[in-house]
Amino acid sequence: MNSTQPARRPTAGSVDKQDRPTVIYIMGYGRSGSTILDILLNQHDDVISVGALANIYEWLLRKEACGCAEKVEACSFWANVCERTLDVADEAELSERRDLQSAVESIRRYPALALGWSSKRRTADYAAEMERLFAAIAETSESRFVVDSSKSAHDCTGRPLALFRHTRLDVKIIHLVRDGRGVAWSVMKGAGSQERKRRFTRPSLNFLRAVAGWTLANFCALVTTRLLPRRAVLRVRYEDLCDAPQQTMDRIGDFIGLDMTRVCEAIEQGRELQTSHNLGGNRVRFTRRLKFRPDQEWRTKMPLSYRTAFRLASWPLTRMLGYGR
Ligand SMILES: [Zn+2]
Repeated sequence: MNSTQPARRPTAGSVDKQDRPTVIYIMGYGRSGSTILDILLNQHDDVISVGALANIYEWLLRKEACGCAEKVEACSFWANVCERTLDVADEAELSERRDLQSAVESIRRYPALALGWSSKRRTADYAAEMERLFAAIAETSESRFVVDSSKSAHDCTGRPLALFRHTRLDVKIIHLVRDGRGVAWSVMKGAGSQERKRRFTRPSLNFLRAVAGWTLANFCALVTTRLLPRRAVLRVRYEDLCDAPQQTMDRIGDFIGLDMTRVCEAIEQGRELQTSHNLGGNRVRFTRRLKFRPDQEWRTKMPLSYRTAFRLASWPLTRMLGYGR
């Protein structure tokens, strides 16, 4: 990675084909292992993982910290990316870009996006901006592949669909799913991103929030999968990533067209993994190096009443995602 080379002036024009990277988009609900998958993919020399990129304008406005612990605007990597694409000191511009992104990607706009009713002018502006942003990240990091693990949060539910349909970027989408009971247990314990506000402190209310969030995010992800060509989306189960990480990474490598041998070796040898300049994601992103340590605690610690309630509440979707038994 090279974050010290001189930046190009921001341009309003379109991005040339050779400068457009392949986007690897991690879609699905939070707490499904997206930060781990994001970091595993980052071990490949041709890949840069930037975490939940949909947060970038909000993170700059709120002066949140990057994975390197610097404020985003002070981080050398993001400063270099921003110099090529936007003025970080101009709060009005940042707000405008955040609002444009939200007007295309948010869950409220998802029905219009899915039905192809989005404003043409708005989606054209959005596409030009996204192409510039991803190209700037690829150029700064000297990587051909950029991992965006924004998932299917309410403010960017339509992001994978919008990137695929409306930009000229090559977009490969990984629908990462995890057994909802494991997700709910993680939410009940209060794990996850530090920046996302905790709405409830009672485990039962967090459980209900997890049931609703998991169901809605995965439902929209399934709709997105149906709307796109088969080659565009790969479904990966967090449990498979934990049980057979090498095989699962090979499967992902086949899907995106990358040899994952070195990533598999790093997992097999228990090597510490290099993290980068991640936005969003859980606390793992502040660890400069980490060991691959999957979380399966819910299997032994989650009360049976909650496990049963989850299965009853989300039964049709659970079955469609392969957790029927
Ligand atoms: Zn950084």
